[in-house]
Amino acid sequence: MKLLLFDIDGTLIRSHGAGRETLAAALVDVFGTAGPIADYKMSGKIDNRIITDLLTAAGIASVEIEKKLPDIYHVMIEKAQAIFPTSDMAACPGVEPLLDALNGRDDALLGLVTGNINGTAPLKLAAAGIDPDQFKLGAYGSDAWERNHLPAIAMQRAADLMGRPFNGANTVVIGDTPADILCARAGKATAVAVASGWHSAKTLARYQPDYLLENLKDTQETLKILLDKNKT
Ligand SMILES: [Mg+2]
Repeated sequence: MKLLLFDIDGTLIRSHGAGRETLAAALVDVFGTAGPIADYKMSGKIDNRIITDLLTAAGIASVEIEKKLPDIYHVMIEKAQAIFPTSDMAACPGVEPLLDALNGRDDALLGLVTGNINGTAPLKLAAAGIDPDQFKLGAYGSDAWERNHLPAIAMQRAADLMGRPFNGANTVVIGDTPADILCARAGKATAVAVASGWHSAKTLARYQPDYLLENLKDTQETLKILLDKNKT
């Protein structure tokens, strides 16, 4: 059985700035400022890191930030519930048929490795018309400060859930940024890069993913890659 760990933003869905809007509103609510959020490059970074970077830049001590993280998560979820359903969220090309094809297979376990916190990830998927319940586990932007730590967390959760080991040899990370490729490497997993987000195929190729796709539109070809039994 393969553990397939999907990134959300730019890979499964396009959120057209709704995530940034949600985070900005939450930080202003809790701390009165979202720091330099307008110019901050979020691509590939995880929420705990983004929150810490923005508030630190606004002069707030890291001990204060950590103390209030649960409050920030709580307000992010509230804001997301209001903002996401009215935002222009959509599944990326090919995602829906691919997930339909994976649904019910006994040789694939679907999970998430995403920078979103665990409370907003399912809201984002649902707002884009993707059933979050088909992802049986995840590692989130609220679980660590670096994306590179997330695949190992997801593998452990998969092992706990299924009662069998998961490691890099039977795990695939699918993402749209160099950071996704690097985190796959950190977990010794197969890296599948898809150029459906902010980064071109040419940029992603420099990070030498195991597979590089323009998008997920070719369901049969993508299934072959994701479930490749020879790739260890
Ligand atoms: Mg992404």
